[in-house]
Amino acid sequence: MTLLTAEQYEESLRRLNLVVYQFGRRVENVVDDPMIRPSMKAVAKTYELAHVPEHEAIMTATSHITGEKINRFTHIHQNVDDLVNKSKMGRLLGRETGCCFQRCVGMDALNALSIVTYAIDEKHATSYNERFLKYLEYVQQHDLTCDGAMTDTKGVRSLPPSQQPDPDAYLHVVRETEDGIVVRGAKAHQTGAVNSHEVIVMPTMTMRKGDKAYAVSFALPSDTKGIVYIVGRQSCDTRKLEDGMLDRGNIVYGGHEALVVFDDVLVPWDRVFMYGEYDFTGLLVESFAAYHRQSYACKVGVGDVLIGAAQTAAEYNGVEKASHIKDKIVEMNHLNETLYCGCIACASQGQVMAGGTYLVDVLLANVHKHNVTRFPYEIARIAQDIAGGLMVTLPSEQDLRSPETAEWIKKYYKTREDIPTEARMRVLRLIENLTLGAAAVGYLTESMHGAGSPQAQRVMISRRINMTEKQQAAKRLCGIDH
Ligand SMILES: Cc1cc2nc3c(=O)[nH]c(=O)nc-3n(C[C@H](O)[C@H](O)[C@H](O)COP(=O)(O)OP(=O)(O)OC[C@H]3O[C@@H](n4cnc5c(N)ncnc54)[C@H](O)[C@@H]3O)c2cc1C
Ligand code: SF4
Repeated sequence: MTLLTAEQYEESLRRLNLVVYQFGRRVENVVDDPMIRPSMKAVAKTYELAHVPEHEAIMTATSHITGEKINRFTHIHQNVDDLVNKSKMGRLLGRETGCCFQRCVGMDALNALSIVTYAIDEKHATSYNERFLKYLEYVQQHDLTCDGAMTDTKGVRSLPPSQQPDPDAYLHVVRETEDGIVVRGAKAHQTGAVNSHEVIVMPTMTMRKGDKAYAVSFALPSDTKGIVYIVGRQSCDTRKLEDGMLDRGNIVYGGHEALVVFDDVLVPWDRVFMYGEYDFTGLLVESFAAYHRQSYACKVGVGDVLIGAAQTAAEYNGVEKASHIKDKIVEMNHLNETLYCGCIACASQGQVMAGGTYLVDVLLANVHKHNVTRFPYEIARIAQDIAGGLMVTLPSEQDLRSPETAEWIKKYYKTREDIPTEARMRVLRLIENLTLGAAAVGYLTESMHGAGSPQAQRVMISRRINMTEKQQAAKRLCGIDH
């Protein structure tokens, strides 16, 4: 069993032959591409911390298949402790990287498939679970990073897959061969796609009988023939191409998303985990979504960074003792720790499913993610309040280095005598990065839409709430007896 180091992970990516496009050009060397490399470094952190004794208990687990030590990102949760450690791992990595570290989608897809392949076999006497376990062992053996690919491009939102003007708006099976199935379509917004060894595909929503060809789940090596990646833009992304590091805000890490096109791709039978069982698409989507909504523990870790930056900016400005500033910092912490409560609560109330996999409490996971669609925005608003306007009007690093302008910048943006102007600039750039720049993709918009837009959680909350129990309690207490 392998527990890859960060360096081995990077080397393993060099062996892949991905077809990646960015800015209208093919990217031949993905690993060293200046736009993509910060996101690779963020995933590499998930490998690095597994070797740090202090973090070992959170970052590693014991495989239920082989009994060996594995990276938690390839683990199938076996008890409540596993689920709680997963939430702690998300916060830790969010704080370490200050961005999306990408590896959770694959972990959540593996756990959802562990539940669903077992359930399909129970009903249809298929052998998907056996296939899945073989695949899982391969993933654990090689400590792989998997892209969890659920979101279709979806065309006209009000129409089901089979009635779309373009039948490829949802990924589907176009034909069957002796060797496997051939699939066509695309998955949008794929987090960490070009840093992944594998791509695990799942349907995007509950399918009906007429959409059987769309009820498909499988896994493929990320460099399989016919898979094409088009990397998405992020706000302020080209700062990564500029000289100097200061204006990036986060000088090491970042994230990326991509459109992943499946252009008539052959999936061998032993990699197919669902094929036509539309009656299990709902369970797959709900289980994956619940796990992934729990995974938004990552935002708590990124929140830690933003709160730390806001406090630092306040100290640099000499306002940290002002009562309204202290109160705002408390408010940021209150919101952030409330998010932490949510991801710990849904984990600690997790339950075993048929087959032995532990699933988070679905209602609480949805409540947690719903809070995530709101609280980071409020935390970001307060951070911008404390940072002041300079966060968006600051001259560039080049101006700080230029002999013609450096002295003016250093003089006029100086605050406390003991704080170099450059330090003040750095912390403001970090706040900008997290609330308006490249990392805001992960901290804000991904908080809104990733793992499902707010309405998706409201639907799940309304389904899972026990209203009868509430009404009975109310009626009992006020003497209504029918
Ligand atoms: C940064 C980022 C990273 C992501 N990473 C991944 C990933 O790794 N893997 C993955 O599979 N997905 C990923 N996602 C996708 C995410 O799950 C989707 O963005 C989310 O499900 C919303 O889908 P959409 O973006 O197509 O928005 P849309 O579907 O266009 O939704 C926009 C609005 O329309 C509403 N709406 C949509 N359909 C309907 C309807 N039928 N009726 C009424 N209202 C409707 C929504 O509620 C929302 O308010 C990521 C998203 C982001 C932003
Ligand atoms: S948004 Fe968070 S949960 Fe999703 S992949 Fe990124 S770090 Fe993981």
